[in-house]
Amino acid sequence: MAGLTFYGGIHPYDGKELSRDCAVQTLFPENGEMVFPLVQHIGRPSIPIVNIGDRVRTGQLIAVAEGELSANLHSSVSGRVVAIEPRRVVGGGWIPSIVIDNDGLYLEVVYPENRRLETLNKETVLRTIQAAGIVGMGGSGIPTQYKLQNAGTADIDTVIANCVECEPYLTSDYRRILENPWKIINGLMIMLTVFPRARGFIAVSENNVEGYHLLRDLLKDNDRIYVKRLRNKYPQGSERQLIYALTGRTLNAKMLPYDIGCVVQNTDTLVAINQAVIMHEPLITRIVTVSGDGVREPGNFRVRIGMSCRDILEQAGGLKPGLTRRSVLILDEGPMMGSVIDDLDVPVTKLTSGIIVMVKDNIPYQEETPCTRCGRCVDACPNNLNPLVLEKDVTKGNDQKFIDHNGLECCGCGCCSYICPSKIQLSARIYAKKRAIMQDPAMAGDYARRFTR
Ligand code: SF4
Ligand code: SF4
Repeated sequence: MAGLTFYGGIHPYDGKELSRDCAVQTLFPENGEMVFPLVQHIGRPSIPIVNIGDRVRTGQLIAVAEGELSANLHSSVSGRVVAIEPRRVVGGGWIPSIVIDNDGLYLEVVYPENRRLETLNKETVLRTIQAAGIVGMGGSGIPTQYKLQNAGTADIDTVIANCVECEPYLTSDYRRILENPWKIINGLMIMLTVFPRARGFIAVSENNVEGYHLLRDLLKDNDRIYVKRLRNKYPQGSERQLIYALTGRTLNAKMLPYDIGCVVQNTDTLVAINQAVIMHEPLITRIVTVSGDGVREPGNFRVRIGMSCRDILEQAGGLKPGLTRRSVLILDEGPMMGSVIDDLDVPVTKLTSGIIVMVKDNIPYQEETPCTRCGRCVDACPNNLNPLVLEKDVTKGNDQKFIDHNGLECCGCGCCSYICPSKIQLSARIYAKKRAIMQDPAMAGDYARRFTR
């Protein structure tokens, strides 16, 4: 039976065979310096509560949330605070960061005894998630507690575990399902204690046949959680396309899923919720896929937040023989939505899902030619936009027309650019314009109020 899906989308080469069969390995930092940017979420920077010279333990709170869209931050190693200063991050910016010299001992804070799932209540779950600094680890960076707190007043009937992982090359969800299915299931069960009227869905891609059958088997006696197979298509794991495929409900960019009765959590976030609520562990590790045609030993690695991308790439065998830093393009996520990593010394954050190394000579030449009005970009757009028209609005500098043509609904998925035979950089231009308009609340209107209702 064909998997559930949405209108539009594309089928890029997904490269998942490079790392799909690689069991998760735990990496320890080899570089002594660990960097913890104070912005690993969508809100204001968190506030340091340690000083230079302080000794810290693994799991210790080092910065507290500043406002409801901010998040707590914990050290992932034991050691000494050596600096609090701006450091480079993925994307090229500089963010105030706490720098810790790792002593290599990993002396942990003492965690209380594990909680039992049956004893949980909503208040405990929300308080613990907030304390643990959990944010949407699929890239949204929205503090999970914020999402749940606001959803708490709405009529939630659907909680979705998003294990679709549609971005090419990434396979950490694939491995999580095979290696730790109960951590995902328990994370979802914890969510269901917050929303007692809701049903749970675990959404997996139809190419994850083993994972689908494993989850079905483990949940065969559970009458509240359903495992669903979704079409192997990009961007099937995007929130709007995921919800539509599962429920038929539509969401626009002014709304959050709870406006239509849904809560969505990605795989790593659910695992972090399980670790925090049951075992009292804050968010200090995550799984990162290291892959691409330029990396010597692709794989999936459990890493400590704050490790440098260079450290992780070197422990994954580094570049293939004959390649140099100049001959590859390194991305922090995947080829569709990822940002370029110019400086490999940037740290892994709560939002880093992959380090993807692409050989430049293997990337097709992208010289733009005039539009042929073939309409393929329109067919591919998963949000029913007309990228051709929007790109014209951008090049003519007509912001009002861009808004009238629903340009603020663009999610930057890249489908239009990928499919365009004239190699026109539609997505980059349209999404950049959207971001520029979003800086101006007067122009962005309801779109800017998405997080301030
Ligand atoms: S896909 Fe490219 S060539 Fe075709 S209509 Fe869109 S912009 Fe023009
Ligand atoms: S990048 Fe924007 S305009 Fe292009 S296909 Fe995606 S949503 Fe549509």
